[in-house]
Amino acid sequence: MRSTIRALSPTTINRIAAGEVIERPAAAVKELVENALDAGARRIEVILAGGGIDRMEVIDDGHGIPAAELPLAIERHATSKLTDDSLVEIATLGFRGEALPSIGAAARLTLISRPAGQAAAASITVAGGAVGPVRPAAGAAGTRAIVEDLFYATPARRKFLRTPRAEAEAAERAVWRLAMAAPRVAFRLVSDERVIFDLPGGDEAARLSALFGRETAASMLPLDAARDGAVLAGFAGPAGLSRATTVLQSFVVNGRPVQDPLLRLAVRLAYRDVIAAGRHPVVALTLTLPAEALDVNVHPAKTELRFADGNGVRSLVMGALARMLERPITLAQAPPVRPAFSLSPAPAPRPAARGFAEAELALLAPPSARQLPAPVPPPAEDEAAHPLGAPVAQILDTYILAVAADGALVIIDQHAAHERLTEERLRAEFAAGGIASQPLLVPVVVDLDVTAARRLAGQAEMLARLGLQIEPFGAGAILVRALPAALRQPDAAGLLRDLADELAEDATPRALEARLDAALARLACHRSIRAGRRLAPAEMDALLRAMEATPRAATCSHGRPTYLRLTRASLESMFGR
Ligand code: ADP
Ligand code: MG
Repeated sequence: MRSTIRALSPTTINRIAAGEVIERPAAAVKELVENALDAGARRIEVILAGGGIDRMEVIDDGHGIPAAELPLAIERHATSKLTDDSLVEIATLGFRGEALPSIGAAARLTLISRPAGQAAAASITVAGGAVGPVRPAAGAAGTRAIVEDLFYATPARRKFLRTPRAEAEAAERAVWRLAMAAPRVAFRLVSDERVIFDLPGGDEAARLSALFGRETAASMLPLDAARDGAVLAGFAGPAGLSRATTVLQSFVVNGRPVQDPLLRLAVRLAYRDVIAAGRHPVVALTLTLPAEALDVNVHPAKTELRFADGNGVRSLVMGALARMLERPITLAQAPPVRPAFSLSPAPAPRPAARGFAEAELALLAPPSARQLPAPVPPPAEDEAAHPLGAPVAQILDTYILAVAADGALVIIDQHAAHERLTEERLRAEFAAGGIASQPLLVPVVVDLDVTAARRLAGQAEMLARLGLQIEPFGAGAILVRALPAALRQPDAAGLLRDLADELAEDATPRALEARLDAALARLACHRSIRAGRRLAPAEMDALLRAMEATPRAATCSHGRPTYLRLTRASLESMFGR
């Protein structure tokens, strides 16, 4: 049965567009804040309730909308920002005239606006696409946009929403990015009655300090570089500063916060050789390009870009970061000078308190294998039991060189190997009923940002199963009462920060099991002998024996190999014999 062709109603068109422009509350709040910035606001306040699904409100002190234009503001493809028909010179964040009608089609939207110099404000409401009359209203100079019951008119979209908590995080994150992009504008963000941040207008460095954390910002270095009319500025962390995820990476292109794959990749490549795999550098980069070198009209949400000269942009970013990373490190950061190569006999073991006791390593192994380490070197008949052989030297304080009974040369990555052992031990404890917890004599207070602190506090029950006892402590802090015993004395602040990053639901919504799994791997990382630590012969031997007794010891938790084996045959072929 064929139906006749007919034009869709404006309401249907707007609902379809809503699916693209505002796929979740974070996108709606982003559009409203962009409008406030485009209106020249000096101060923007965002109030969210229930992740922005129940209600969101954006208040600005910008130039406002005259009462006569309110009906146009919520009409599709009506904009004050494109003066002619050219899409080349776009100086504003918005330009498509789609956001307000899309929000009005999916929710109940009220605009209250008073242009500067006008005596009174006026309001208009559009609910599920039905537009009400313009009415006089009370209001300060500027604009107040109120969105209620987001997606009530588009139930299909509502079904795809995550928990209010996850939506709140994504929305807070969107405002965080815009606040990074507009440091001169004062921003206040309130979510479920908590003040997430309240920032005065200032310069880039002050904004960085407020949003990345004072300590982190203080260790970042300023950058600036230019190439073919493109100007790069901002701050980047030294190699030693890394996070578990890309949370502390901000990219702003021509005033617009973006999550552009080309820029992300350029940063990853620049740090590739100086940062551990699985860790992420900390950067806040601002790129300014001539309008014609950039197309922002790639996607309705405008978070993707197309660079006319992608290669040029990549080299600009990578070059500037490489020069920053090459700067001589200051004395305080410099590692102690050590010989690059040490052959047996290795230096005497360290005092037990700091050293890596062999009994402890033996404990890492599953119960069946809890026995004293094998003698060094292993006798020939032990060949099958000790495929990793006897340690003969430590190279670069990072790799253990061992010789197996069959003559094979084995090179072990001490950090990767130990990380896996710790993880397996934690897993075994977890499976056997719970990870042993060690109460702290004096509880530690760890300062985080409000979002991260709340995220951890919300996972307190799950973390307790991992041996970590925490409580919320004021707005942006967590009180740590106990830590997993297996971790000995980890740096509580670093551990909590990494866990908070790891548990961010914004990146990937995950089931409890997957989150436990990720958190376990994260814990293991905090109790692993680092690359760059010198090991005594007995410590090396204990590590190898524990590896042999541990399942999955051939790869670390990130899937990289923990050791390489060069057999006689492979050595001979390498030498062309
Ligand atoms: P766009 O931002 O792409 O122009 P929108 O649908 O977001 O489209 O907004 C439509 C118009 O409403 C804008 O062009 C602007 O003139 C006006 N407007 C929206 N929000 C504000 C605000 N906060 N202050 C002043 N004017 C606004
Ligand atoms: Mg807009």
